[in-house]
Amino acid sequence: MKNRVKDKVWVVSLGCPRNLVDSEGILGGLAKKGYALASGIDKADIGIVNTCAFIEDARVESIDAILELIQLKKEGHLKKLLVYGCLPQRYKEQLKNELPEVDAFIGRVSLNHSPNILRMTPLYYAYVKICEGCLNRCSYCVIPKIKGRFTSLDMDSLLDRVSSLDRAKVAEVNIVGQDITGYGMDLYGAKKLPQLLDKMLKSTNNIVWFRLLYLYPNRISDELLELIGSQSRVCKYIDLPIQHINDRILKLMRRNTAKKEIVRLIAKIRKKIPQVAIRTSLIVGFPSETDKEFRELVDFIEEVKFDRLGVFIYSREEGTAAYDFEKQIPQKIKSQRLDTIMSKQQLISQEINNRLLGRTIDVLIEEEEKEAWPVTLENRRAYLGRSQYDAPEVDGTVYVNSSKKLKPGDFAKVKITDTLEYDLVGDAQA
Ligand code: SF4
Repeated sequence: MKNRVKDKVWVVSLGCPRNLVDSEGILGGLAKKGYALASGIDKADIGIVNTCAFIEDARVESIDAILELIQLKKEGHLKKLLVYGCLPQRYKEQLKNELPEVDAFIGRVSLNHSPNILRMTPLYYAYVKICEGCLNRCSYCVIPKIKGRFTSLDMDSLLDRVSSLDRAKVAEVNIVGQDITGYGMDLYGAKKLPQLLDKMLKSTNNIVWFRLLYLYPNRISDELLELIGSQSRVCKYIDLPIQHINDRILKLMRRNTAKKEIVRLIAKIRKKIPQVAIRTSLIVGFPSETDKEFRELVDFIEEVKFDRLGVFIYSREEGTAAYDFEKQIPQKIKSQRLDTIMSKQQLISQEINNRLLGRTIDVLIEEEEKEAWPVTLENRRAYLGRSQYDAPEVDGTVYVNSSKKLKPGDFAKVKITDTLEYDLVGDAQA
């Protein structure tokens, strides 16, 4: 008797890289049951949306994606539609009533220990999620409620995962989690990120870059900074979300770090890792944030000059402590504050990029570029890439001119010849 051919699946993965890791886990689980991966949603029998519900914008994007797939199902292109992740975790009953076309809503995605997870990222880089949930309880954030208890994956399964990526010659591994600095506190009773990173370095040869994403300020140890500073395969990149700098706002946010500590930490990071790029994220328009407190934040970013910076407008989320805070800020003011920060950061970023002019840096090539090239040179190929100071998807690009052919995943030594606000332009050295 012939085996029945199983349906093909496709996942639309929304939100942050941590969600992407979950999407890979969902696909891996289905692959084990014999389902094949479709080459695109238009070739799939089963469509999956892995949603994000972190803030209002993310919810809107998730609902839009579900509605698009519902349309495909109505037109007969999809047999089944499944919705995973944060959105059903938060609003399952409501969604069931309002979107009957969806076959199943599945909230929490379990952490996947399998080294054979199907990858959705390009072959040359990968994300490895080392923990789920968060140890902190920031007053504006719904993640601890959605994701539940903080859970670390055990070291052995993580080392298996990283070894399999090493064997596959993946160039860059990005270690992610809501708060990776808390790694191990639940499982081993102590912070074990430095030990985990050290073991990953010792058990691999081919991975060229390890990048740590999202370090909670008050859990960054000297041991961790020394490891980042001393190991050439660890990107000199610190992603340090501070959210604000005014002490009253930090306290209301329940961030557990005061201005003095943040200032001290940044100075320490720059001293221990001289070439470091520090990324941060900020929230503007937090309830009761005054003009003066906002000004303090602007002055701070002008003084510190973060290499990379993301700003979010405060989103009032049901179920969070800050939802009921008095003096919610009007949307117009929140948007103005965001614009003010972004225009300051644009100048800072250009200034920081200018310092790289004439320097030669290692660039990970991501794709050949055929259009929208800022500088054109005859008889040369054009590529897009990233330096160790740029995380995938969120940071800048290096536009590379090269006389020799390169492919995604190659590293090139690139001399920087021009700078844009957030991006760099350079020539690959022969
Ligand atoms: S650190 Fe704060 S903002 Fe980040 S996930 Fe945890 S609770 Fe949310």
